[in-house]
Amino acid sequence: MSAASIPAALTATLAAARRVTVLTGAGMSAESGVPTFRDAQAGLWSRYRPEELATREAFEADPDAVWSWYEWRRDLVEKAEPNPGHVALVELAALVDRLTIVTQNVDGLHLRAGSQDVIEFHGNLFENYCVERGHPMTSVPRPCPAPPPCPRCGSPARPGVVWFGESIPANALERALAAAQECDLFLAIGTSALVYPAAGLAETALGAGAVAVEVNPQRTSLSGLAEFCLRAPSGEALPAIVAALRARLGIGGATRP
Ligand code: NAD
Repeated sequence: MSAASIPAALTATLAAARRVTVLTGAGMSAESGVPTFRDAQAGLWSRYRPEELATREAFEADPDAVWSWYEWRRDLVEKAEPNPGHVALVELAALVDRLTIVTQNVDGLHLRAGSQDVIEFHGNLFENYCVERGHPMTSVPRPCPAPPPCPRCGSPARPGVVWFGESIPANALERALAAAQECDLFLAIGTSALVYPAAGLAETALGAGAVAVEVNPQRTSLSGLAEFCLRAPSGEALPAIVAALRARLGIGGATRP
């Protein structure tokens, strides 16, 4: 996908935007080699039943099995690198007044790419805490075959991700809602938009007057709400958006003059 294939009206909207809010999902990391949950071929769900693994009940029933599954995912993510889509979002942030990323991904790849204003809505695979009291457990070694006990209370470590049936941490929810309410442009990338409350952020943004843009090779439930849909992988579409915006702003570098 080239800069020329980005609609001029989209580039103009971006150039005029005061605040851009980006919602990313598993598709954002697909080109880094991190499988999505729902994509039929490579999705983790084709080999595992996540409802048996990504819940508090599952962890209580078999902590070692659930922990091993997360160790497997940590291994995968450690070997992965941010892809051109992640890098393009770092560049885009330098071209607009304010850009906030709300990510459903737990892989930390936006932060590794260098994005600054990132809300990890569903937590992070590498930030463990103890299951009973929520004590942070920052120094769990890797690899670690079984959940180690908390040095303060003895309860086992759990991954710092939001499991099915759990609430989004209040601080992340509050910041994400504010970012959705205050943006002019809402960019949904690589998400099937089936998991709430993340999926509802687009509706919040639209209700507050934002223009919605979707980057996803497939149609989703957000497609009907979006003014622009780029049907391409994010690793191709996002660099093209950045190139188009740079051309419109008349700059070759990474920052707005
Ligand atoms: P999802 O698996 O439901 O949907 C992925 C979406 O990405 C699909 O719509 C697909 O068409 C699209 N896609 C696939 N390849 C793409 C590409 N190269 N560029 C752009 N889009 C692409 O993912 P979801 O909506 O994020 O929801 C699933 C939940 O699973 C989330 O809560 C997330 O926390 C979790 N999850 C996270 C990771 C990760 O951290 N990388 C991986 C798998 C699942």
